[in-house]
Amino acid sequence: METAERKGMSLHWKVLLWMVAGVAVGIGLQLGFPDEAWIGGRFEAADGGVRVASVQAGGPAAKAKLGGAAVYRGFVAERGTDAERVETLSGPDDVRAKLLGPGKNGQVVWLLPARAGGVGGDPGSWSQDEPGIQALSLAQNPDSARARWLWPFAFVADLFIALLKMLIVPLVVTSIVAGVAGVGTMKDLRRLGGKTFAFYMGSSLLAILVGQTLVNVIKPGDGAQLGLAYERFEGEGGGGTTQFLEVLKRMVPTNIFEALRDNSAMLSIIFFALLLGYFITRTPDPHGKRVREGFESFLEVMMTMAKGVLSLLPYGVFALMVKVTAATGFAPFKALLLYMLTVTLALLVHSLLTLPLLLKFVGGLSPLRWFKAMSPALMTAFSTSSSSMTLPVTMETVEKRGRVSNKVGSFTLPLGATINMDGTALYECIGVIFLAQYYSSVGGDPLTFAQQGFIVLLALLASVGAAGIPSAGLVMMLTILSALHLPVEGAALLLAVDRPLDMLRTVVNVWSDSCGAAIISRSEGEEGPLNPVTSS
Ligand code: ASP
Repeated sequence: METAERKGMSLHWKVLLWMVAGVAVGIGLQLGFPDEAWIGGRFEAADGGVRVASVQAGGPAAKAKLGGAAVYRGFVAERGTDAERVETLSGPDDVRAKLLGPGKNGQVVWLLPARAGGVGGDPGSWSQDEPGIQALSLAQNPDSARARWLWPFAFVADLFIALLKMLIVPLVVTSIVAGVAGVGTMKDLRRLGGKTFAFYMGSSLLAILVGQTLVNVIKPGDGAQLGLAYERFEGEGGGGTTQFLEVLKRMVPTNIFEALRDNSAMLSIIFFALLLGYFITRTPDPHGKRVREGFESFLEVMMTMAKGVLSLLPYGVFALMVKVTAATGFAPFKALLLYMLTVTLALLVHSLLTLPLLLKFVGGLSPLRWFKAMSPALMTAFSTSSSSMTLPVTMETVEKRGRVSNKVGSFTLPLGATINMDGTALYECIGVIFLAQYYSSVGGDPLTFAQQGFIVLLALLASVGAAGIPSAGLVMMLTILSALHLPVEGAALLLAVDRPLDMLRTVVNVWSDSCGAAIISRSEGEEGPLNPVTSS
């Protein structure tokens, strides 16, 4: 454990160093091959096919090629035929044009500077030989020199994301089943179990609402330049999560093995895991116990495997950073910084306002004294980014320094380390809404009210399902994005800056566990030991 913790600490620095190296290489590639312009498009269903609704181009090269012009011509062409008119929507800093007329996903889109005296005369005379920018629908041109240099990095980045996705289903299932089945282990503690569960879910929900409010007010994703393409999901009714009741119905898997095969069926999987966990507690021994212990062991193995995969994090982050910065330079960082500030602000509000208020008014404790007493656990959480690794310290701190009874501590804290993650919950909510804001500004649909509700529910479930290990929250975010039919590449970008946020949210996770233990202990009539408020 000792060496694992040490490794955990140095991993922070490793990740940060590789991240900086990735930025440097990415910028190097951008400077080395400056003739690249990126372009994205939005494609809409139109009678008899798809039509290009808008294209967006950016980067200094795009601007240079268009000569800083404010008006453009352009056309969608398949092997040089059928010119179409382009209506310009905005100016030279960020070229946005609306292509009128039919087009197909995958066709070549051209943008050209306007000719003197009008947009450009007869479109039939426009030629692909004129200087302009050419782009392939949503993707970067795979034949460009930079793309050829980039592919090994993109390959490693994709491989890393695939490894993370691989962990999702087994990690979530074992974590939920073991966590829920654990609530009922001590029969005489069932009442305590109910209370603890209710507190944990309530505080996580409050955390999510703080996050949801802030991300909707600050809107870090609106108009962000992340350089990610949006492609409409072509499956059953694309993004058809608007109907809340429909979502609830789909939550019940008709065949659990089919659901397990599908990362976007996460809600069904979580639903089944919750039921399974609950009914394990209702099944008499030895069967219930055997299955529970089996899941507990499986969870241990999965966490070890996840740690193995996550030890590759520095290299994954490096490759991702190269991929991102080579495409869009520093532009994404402005938005990512705002996103990080939003998460940090929400974490601060929840841990310095919401939880202390609960401590004071529900538990009758001095938040400041409790905070001071908990400092060893909080510092361990910060330096390990793992609630599970911190658990022994949390228990020691809560029982010795906070003087909560062993009966309450040994019940609430292990449970809290698995299912109670307030920091993770609000982070999921902010991350997903941030990406949805971005995607809706490049052609996706804005989130509906029902979808926002859906995200709250998913964020809560994700925080229950996330294992207490570094970056688990990010793995869960992939599942929420899939459930919403949003491209998961967005989460890959967030992964690049995840480490510092992970350290902070883990502190909030552990802080909330300890507040839960204190409040439950008080509600059980435990006295004095908890540093009760004497005056003030
Ligand atoms: N690292 C967090 C924890 O262990 C989970 C997460 O990634 O949000 O509590």
